[in-house]
Amino acid sequence: MTDLSGALDALPLRDELRGELPYGAPQLDVAVALNTNENPYPPSDELASRIGAAAAEAARGVNRYPDREAMALRSDLAAYLRRESGVALGVDQVWAANGSNEIMLQLLQAFGGPGRTAVSFAPTYSMYPEYARDTHTRWLLGRRADDFTIDVPRSLELVAAQQPSVVFLASPNNPTGTALPLSEIAALADAAPGVVVVDEAYGEFRRDAVPSALTLLADHPRLVVTRTMSKAFAFAGGRLGYLAASPAVVDAVRIVRLPYHLSAITQAVARVALAHAGELLSAVGELRAERDRTVAWLRTRGHDVADSDANFVLFGTFRDRHAVWQGLLDHGVLIRETGPDGWLRVSIGTSAEMATFRTALDAVLEEVPA
Ligand code: PMP
Repeated sequence: MTDLSGALDALPLRDELRGELPYGAPQLDVAVALNTNENPYPPSDELASRIGAAAAEAARGVNRYPDREAMALRSDLAAYLRRESGVALGVDQVWAANGSNEIMLQLLQAFGGPGRTAVSFAPTYSMYPEYARDTHTRWLLGRRADDFTIDVPRSLELVAAQQPSVVFLASPNNPTGTALPLSEIAALADAAPGVVVVDEAYGEFRRDAVPSALTLLADHPRLVVTRTMSKAFAFAGGRLGYLAASPAVVDAVRIVRLPYHLSAITQAVARVALAHAGELLSAVGELRAERDRTVAWLRTRGHDVADSDANFVLFGTFRDRHAVWQGLLDHGVLIRETGPDGWLRVSIGTSAEMATFRTALDAVLEEVPA
């Protein structure tokens, strides 16, 4: 671990970064890791070999810079979105980067900045304020309703009063799992003076009849939908996130992106993953069913559980949630201590992993009172 005291204090670090720590969930070596919302299934040996072969092929030209515009990859992503949500997008409406984290940083580099405001509604993804900090954008957090839905009239008031350049709406939301109705996204997009970013990192896990905000793009030129291959796509280690928006939004982001930000290896292996979307996404149905079973089981145990359209479940409330988290860890099950006071978040793993989680939680709650 880095020594963050002493030597760091002596450096001319930006004042607002003093005392800050690098973001990230604990990376602990545990039997059952249910803390970062990954797809628990690795690729087949055959697909792993194909990914390796594509990396080797890209390596033959690695003396040259990659395609700065990542055209082939963006075209594959557009084709995937069309299959997944029925929305036809041109390659000029899709942009890719190293994870949707980088996409959102680029969005704030283009649309945020000094004197500008970015808004979201808590509880929500805890990286948003970090992108704002790192781009000198003023950060403002409204509140979600008690059931974690967006309180539309109150949110519209905040938008009217603060005139944010960027609004982040995670749907399904992390850490609550809540998906937003399209009518609410549209109402905010119509009222907001700047760009509205719908973060659909968990989009593929939504329950039936919950539509994607991609369907709103045609009528909302300042709407941006971000996606990632890190979750349902089982490609977190490949680092590939993307957005869909109007061509003008893509042009804005192209101004701030670093040249050659997406390596030739990343582009090549992500294209192989997209060509095998069927295999990589094959567990999504099972993970959704396991999620619904987990919600139901936690409720039979008397817990409060947020409805979830994602591959994780927020549950509580515990007087000492840290004790529950630690107790689970002592049983080899790592979940996430996040969300409002007293709540915990568990990612959906394999059915065997979820059985271990259930057994461990029952055991822990014998000792730690709920
Ligand atoms: N958005 C949300 C809501 C997330 O939970 C995450 C990952 N935890 C991301 C974006 C970023 O994911 P990635 O950079 O791997 O695409």
